[in-house]
Amino acid sequence: MTNHDLLNIAKTYGDPVYVYDSEKIITQFNRLTNAFSGVKKLKLNYAAKALSNITILKLMNSLGSGLDTVSIQEVQLGLLAGFKPENIIFTPNGVSLEEIEEAAKLGVRINIDNLSILEQFGSKFPKVPVCIRINPHVMAGGNSNISVGHIDSKFGISIHQIPHLLRIVELTQMHINGIHMHTGSDILDIDVFLYASEILFETAKNFKELDFIDFGSGFKVPYKEGDIETNIEELGSKLTEKFNAFCKEYGKELTLAFEPGKFLVSEAGQFLAKVNVVKQTTSTVFASIDSGFNHLIRPMLYGSYHQIENISNPEGRERYYSVVGYICETDTFASNRRITEISEGDILTFKNAGAYCFTMASNYNSRFRPAEVLWHKGEAVLIRERETLDDIIKNQVDVKNLFSKKEKATVK
Ligand SMILES: *Cc1c(COP(=O)(O)O)cnc(C)c1O
Repeated sequence: MTNHDLLNIAKTYGDPVYVYDSEKIITQFNRLTNAFSGVKKLKLNYAAKALSNITILKLMNSLGSGLDTVSIQEVQLGLLAGFKPENIIFTPNGVSLEEIEEAAKLGVRINIDNLSILEQFGSKFPKVPVCIRINPHVMAGGNSNISVGHIDSKFGISIHQIPHLLRIVELTQMHINGIHMHTGSDILDIDVFLYASEILFETAKNFKELDFIDFGSGFKVPYKEGDIETNIEELGSKLTEKFNAFCKEYGKELTLAFEPGKFLVSEAGQFLAKVNVVKQTTSTVFASIDSGFNHLIRPMLYGSYHQIENISNPEGRERYYSVVGYICETDTFASNRRITEISEGDILTFKNAGAYCFTMASNYNSRFRPAEVLWHKGEAVLIRERETLDDIIKNQVDVKNLFSKKEKATVK
């Protein structure tokens, strides 16, 4: 995809707009698969919450991926996209027993992450196999908000509660078919994975009917030139060795599962926005774009870095800019960023906009959520239309005659 292609997309579909490159998604999927070619049974379950457009889900399904879901709605979307129920795993946190029952009725795999629900579900449906989410208490992840394995984390069943867990399994006679962990996002250090895997293997020995061990995700992807990323190939060779040794000891060929979100889609996505105003102040130069944290919240939410390029003037002289949005409160995408000289009307592209960007977009300031385009085999395919005012008002109830008389403020 060249700058020319991107500018054409912005022209055709309007801006701002999200663009995803199917080839990059496929490359990442194959890279992860190849890194674990030494494992007999490998299952990748794409984490739908990263980017849940149904066309992306269909692409994942066509690649042979399964689907990791965290809400009943994502389960339903996955089924609509054509995933077989057994290829969907439901990994929620803190949802009601009813929601888990609903997912079980749809035939998807169930992953339970607390003892209260485990006991209730096991008592009611002892025949439905469940996977358990373990918290190995391994500190990992790039930011405290996305690091979920630490001691104060709300995720998973603590390894210190294994005795209680075993008691529940014994008393309810339920079946445990998988062990799962997901320790956080942006894990750089593969030793964290390997160390946590040892804890999972130890835990797994307590269960005799396992089909799979799921190592979650959290692979770090590069955000800029020269950035370090999780060494997938090294992790592949080291974890494969440990996993195969464990299967031998366990006496059964288990499936090794992962549920990557960011790794598969982050780099495939770009977000295109137009510069409305270049504003020189006494201390900086602001480039104000026709978007804001309503469309891309990650920089404001957890300080994520998105490389920004001016594709309208790629050869220009670099200058320092603060790139800001139009939302009426602090809305900063980047400060002191070197970008080739910006003129009003230029199109900027934000890199790494595939994961947790569109899916976190909102209608704040009553703005429309942008269109999404898939770049597939050299062509732009519209996969979501830009919203219109109808989308903003369609669920609002226009109550008639509620304020028929002129309301007066009464002073007491
Ligand atoms: C969000 C999530 C993932 C995906 O994490 P990435 O960092 O995007 O790869 C995987 N598993 C679970 C349970 C999740 O909640």
